[in-house]
Amino acid sequence: MAVTTRKRAPWLAMRVLAAVAITVAAWCAVALVDAGVDDVQRDAESHAPPPPPPIANEALPKPGRLFVLIIDSLRAPRAENMKTVRELRGESLFVYVRATRDAATVPSMRAAFTGRTQRSIFAFVRNFGHHSGTTPSLFSQAAEHGHRVATFSDGAFYEMAPGIADPRPNAIPPGDEETCQVRAFHEALDVFRSGADDVVVFHLTTVDHAAHTHGPGTAAYNRAFEVADQLVREANAAVPADATFVVMGDHGHDELGRHFPGLDVPTVGLYRGPAFKPGSVLGPVPLTIHRYLMSWALGMPLSPDYRGVGAPQVLAGPTPPADYRSPLPEISAEFLRAKRFKWLGPLALLVALGGAFGIWALGAVRFTAGRAALTILASATLFGAWGGFLAHHRLVTVPPTTTELLFNWALGLMIAAWAVVMRLTRRITATWIALAIPGLLLY
Ligand SMILES: [Zn+2]
Repeated sequence: MAVTTRKRAPWLAMRVLAAVAITVAAWCAVALVDAGVDDVQRDAESHAPPPPPPIANEALPKPGRLFVLIIDSLRAPRAENMKTVRELRGESLFVYVRATRDAATVPSMRAAFTGRTQRSIFAFVRNFGHHSGTTPSLFSQAAEHGHRVATFSDGAFYEMAPGIADPRPNAIPPGDEETCQVRAFHEALDVFRSGADDVVVFHLTTVDHAAHTHGPGTAAYNRAFEVADQLVREANAAVPADATFVVMGDHGHDELGRHFPGLDVPTVGLYRGPAFKPGSVLGPVPLTIHRYLMSWALGMPLSPDYRGVGAPQVLAGPTPPADYRSPLPEISAEFLRAKRFKWLGPLALLVALGGAFGIWALGAVRFTAGRAALTILASATLFGAWGGFLAHHRLVTVPPTTTELLFNWALGLMIAAWAVVMRLTRRITATWIALAIPGLLLY
């Protein structure tokens, strides 16, 4: 009896150790991928061509004022057919915009107004601790240049708070969502007309909500676009010719009204103002272009924080300075994928080995079909709930690529299989951990 008890205790300790090891390994895999991505980005930046020499007559346009209407989930094909947008194209710059990889509002706003996309997978962890909002952005730069910024939103700009002198809600009760937002929109126009704020940004969410709830093609969806079009018309009339009026989307949505990380949901931007060539067309360009274009509209130098394409050909006014002619390169997901191509061979081998070993070690004997189904169901519920939690709290993740997922999963499976073979843990426990942990960390 005593012998059995003594024998069992170390086994329990070993099982706990194995579980901890699996968790740590999953984190390490994420960290490795993250470090690799960061390394590739740093490398690309260090090899960027030097900025072109200054030109004698280069200058910034004189400081302007800016009114921005952000239509949440402004789907590109639909936006192009908005009546007022079509009418305004002749006198404006029209931009085809690629959504960020993390096609949700908060990361999209961050990309558009900071001018760079998030680099680290761990950035979402840092977001837990930085609710005060310390991200330098177009807003903080505008404040430094003496512009007063007002935003009307439902909290989407919280990370960029320091530069925003006048943060307000995008809905003023009473009434339904449309009534409340239209009322707040009129307040935004009044604020702009009064001259109290030089930069006014209004974030309209009715289109996004109609797309999610009712879906494209429904009466409610069409109604939301009609209202949005009316607001574009009103804002265009309210913004004088010497100021810049912008209509933009944070991302688009698909035929079912959805937008989620990894989905191709392009949007558009429209710039009407003295700083842009009328009738010009740009793109498709990344969402970060907005920092570039808005900086020019405000007559500010381009921040070195901006990472992306230059578009001097669409800028009106003086000859743009070197930073506008040749900004630092954008390190896009596409670019990274191309660079990572050389990893694919060993990775495929690892995946094959890990998968085969995992299936062999985990898939036999007492692992019944019922248990397997239950495990998959429970994992799916867990992932769904975790995703829902993230979405609800507007936390931000940069989702990994399929390759990263496979890599992490293979690693998890290998360690789990090793733990089973070494009799450190039961198959069912190992399977649970292998399925759940990497998924949770990478969602
Ligand atoms: Zn949405």
